[in-house]
Amino acid sequence: MPVGQIAFLVDTTRCINCKTCEVACKDVNEGVVGVRIRQVRTFEGGEFPRVFAYAISMSCNHCEDPACVAACPAGAYTKRAGDGIVVHDPERCIGCRYCTWVCPYGAPQYDATAGRIRKCNLCVEELDRGRLPVCVTACPMRVIEVGRLADLETRPGATMLIRGVPSPDLTKPACVYLIRSEATDVR
Ligand code: SF4
Ligand code: SF4
Repeated sequence: MPVGQIAFLVDTTRCINCKTCEVACKDVNEGVVGVRIRQVRTFEGGEFPRVFAYAISMSCNHCEDPACVAACPAGAYTKRAGDGIVVHDPERCIGCRYCTWVCPYGAPQYDATAGRIRKCNLCVEELDRGRLPVCVTACPMRVIEVGRLADLETRPGATMLIRGVPSPDLTKPACVYLIRSEATDVR
């Protein structure tokens, strides 16, 4: 893991499932129908009268062991040395979709119109200019933060385990969550 690994912190306790983050992401990424580079997924459970539901805003997690990088035969994925951001280059992509098979989090999205994959690049051009990703700035509830993983993972209550998201042991994602008790993952 690069020392300066950039990560997401997603405070699911504040998310109201408005999907503004998803729409904002779609807006800056050419808005292809069916291609959801950021996705707000909902999870429900319990038994009446003790039922619950929560939403998780998810995208690429810029993993420490990115399965997409290893699987891509065209070298379209690069994990940047300094900040660990996993960047996908659509110009190199041949549309084989191998990355969609190996990513546990459903992050690479196939754009059938272009015949290529689309994926969160963490608004890297904005970050390189000292600005924040659009999902961070668009969210009215300030659910999403971007910062150094070393700082975010030590935030009180921060965890990589949340019910509904595949194990962080698979690819070591650079994403931590603040969760409600219902979302506690007991694996
Ligand atoms: S979340 Fe998926 S696409 Fe993103 S770096 Fe990890 S394995 Fe690759
Ligand atoms: S914009 Fe914020 S509050 Fe709305 S769905 Fe996305 S993360 Fe949740």
